[in-house]
Amino acid sequence: DTTEDVDPEESMKPRPPVVTIMGHVDHGKTSLLDALRGTDVTRGEAGGITQHIGAYQIKTKGGDVITFLDTPGHEAFTEMRARGANVTDIVILVVAADDGLMPQTIEAINHTKAAGVPMIVAINKIDKDEANPQKIRERLLEHEIIVEAMSGDVMDVEVSAKNKIGLDKLLDAINLQAELLELKANPDREADATVIEAKLDKGKGPLATVLVTRGTLKRGDVFVVGTESGRVRALHDDKGRQIKEAGPAMPVEVLGLGGVPRAGDVLTVVENEQRAREVAGYRTEKANEKRTAMPVS
Ligand code: GDP
Repeated sequence: DTTEDVDPEESMKPRPPVVTIMGHVDHGKTSLLDALRGTDVTRGEAGGITQHIGAYQIKTKGGDVITFLDTPGHEAFTEMRARGANVTDIVILVVAADDGLMPQTIEAINHTKAAGVPMIVAINKIDKDEANPQKIRERLLEHEIIVEAMSGDVMDVEVSAKNKIGLDKLLDAINLQAELLELKANPDREADATVIEAKLDKGKGPLATVLVTRGTLKRGDVFVVGTESGRVRALHDDKGRQIKEAGPAMPVEVLGLGGVPRAGDVLTVVENEQRAREVAGYRTEKANEKRTAMPVS
């Protein structure tokens, strides 16, 4: 493949963190994603209509940019990881303070540990009378998650997605964790990106939201995504605005695909259409080899 080359150290520039929110059903993942989206200081700029493209970016009051995967649930995370696409830098584990550690909480803890991704615990619903955040912290100990309030090193923040309490603290925690990770990518090269979600739109044809992992994706770029090739006809950001290019950790909707790719597929920009066909052909061959090599039960 063409994706094995390594960028020289001096080409690497800081990039925003990519954050996934996980937790048990009804503990407030969707509410928290919406509340965090509402903190974006660039909201309200011309043309800023919220689009659900599977990921969004916010700018905090302090000027930091954070990318959130807007696909709550563990399927996206595990499915992408199973396919070798580890796009998440930080996991926010949401636990409802009036509930406790539930099966999907434990599952999220296990997935996060297996992925080796740092975790921030958001203890949600602290507005409720029945909220007992200390009980959550104690329960987390049983899973070897020692939060700061228990003298450990996992950051924990009390929040209420509903009443918008603790959101700035949570954003600070994300930025602090991101700083520790020293996230970098080379923006000055042809892009690689990972498909977050994809669909067939009746009017526009195949659409994919991708997260640029390095380089800058531009209108007109020829690419291979999975086993399909294409040329970027248009790029839209999470506010539905047409943009000319997208840099590292920026989620962007791509038009101009030859078919609908799968979540976790890698999009690679190549020099020209001939090269695109070669790479697509090579990937198809590889995929077929894998399929025929699979044991028949
Ligand atoms: P998800 O299944 O994890 O995405 O959870 P949702 O975001 O859909 O929230 C589940 C329920 O909890 C909804 O009825 C929300 O209104 C409610 N909820 C979410 N966050 C809070 C909160 O901070 N406080 C209270 N009181 N309710 C909340």
